[in-house]
Amino acid sequence: MTERVFVFVDEEELFSVMKDADCLYCRNPVTASKHHLRKRHLRFAIYYKDSAIGKFSIPCYCSDGGHGRSHWHCPMCAKILQRTKDFKIHITNHGVEMTDKSTVELQPTMVLSENQQTDNEDKTPGNKSACQKCGIFFTTTSNLRRHERLQHGQDQQPMLCVDAKNAIYVTPKDLHGPRVPIHIRKSFTLQILLCELEECWDFMKALAQSGNPGKECRHLVRTNHAQHYVPPPPLSISSLEEMSHKHLLSASEKHACQEMNSRACLEGVDCVYPIFWGKHDLSERCVYFSVYTDLKDKWCQFGRTRVSFDTKSGSWKCLCEHKRIPCIHKRLSMWWLFQEHPKLLQNPLDVHAERVDVLEEVVMDKMSPDGDDLC
Ligand SMILES: [Zn+2]
Ligand SMILES: [Zn+2]
Ligand SMILES: [Zn+2]
Ligand SMILES: [Zn+2]
Ligand SMILES: [Zn+2]
Ligand SMILES: [Zn+2]
Repeated sequence: MTERVFVFVDEEELFSVMKDADCLYCRNPVTASKHHLRKRHLRFAIYYKDSAIGKFSIPCYCSDGGHGRSHWHCPMCAKILQRTKDFKIHITNHGVEMTDKSTVELQPTMVLSENQQTDNEDKTPGNKSACQKCGIFFTTTSNLRRHERLQHGQDQQPMLCVDAKNAIYVTPKDLHGPRVPIHIRKSFTLQILLCELEECWDFMKALAQSGNPGKECRHLVRTNHAQHYVPPPPLSISSLEEMSHKHLLSASEKHACQEMNSRACLEGVDCVYPIFWGKHDLSERCVYFSVYTDLKDKWCQFGRTRVSFDTKSGSWKCLCEHKRIPCIHKRLSMWWLFQEHPKLLQNPLDVHAERVDVLEEVVMDKMSPDGDDLC
């Protein structure tokens, strides 16, 4: 039996592998005609970039997957994954980059000639490089370097403790772009090791199953360099009164804010924890807050949500179900900002003139349909 390949640079390569013999990727005998390959395999192909070379993988229905169910063979480590989503995450962890099929530079025929050689070179066994830190194999050294940077080069990324009692920390989700924070929980005494992101959960679970149960995601490892908890300036009732006098809050909103703050205080945690990555660095366009929710849900697994404020557009966002409309979490963050950095709130619109939620609507109207999602 021909050795099966699970990665291709163009469709012709796939067609030529079997040349109308039985399909190697199906459990039941079926001729690997172009029609079959297109209908059963290519239609669901996943496209990605491996060291700037456009490649794709196809779903398989062989008996390895059990009962001919569709599954994916990792072309880099021979692991089999049932779910498409898991496969994508898995190969991303090998260092490839997911791409949109429609990207012109990825049209397989266009990259074939100039890259064919490198590609063959990459496939030679023994030319594979393994990560010294976690042992994962890569087809090229540039993928290995990318992986090392993404998975292990995290030491410079900040990690702040926002709730020492419950061992909650915040750290930037990505290495590029605005430093949007995510929550993680890690504690020796509480025996907790959790990241808010589902992809990290999957990543750690997969590694645990493959014999590496202590491996942490790229966020959790940063706790080794975390800054210890520093209490932020607490919310004061007098500033809330002042907001109310300036008609920035309705009576019921004011009451709700006060109530939530008291509940957080009773819990012994900060209702609003402003996140400044630098030492109280206000030069960045986006300001983030970790806000107490008094409940646990998909959007606030650890009982805290993330509120973002774009100081340039004046728009607010929250992870709760009220993403773009006023919510208690945005109100609470506004309270803190009004109290500590009122100047930031006045830009670019004068909040004294109108109610904030009216302004929010104005801001939302000005935004493009998919939003000016900087933060
Ligand atoms: Zn087939
Ligand atoms: Zn298979
Ligand atoms: Zn793999
Ligand atoms: Zn590694
Ligand atoms: Zn993570
Ligand atoms: Zn909210």
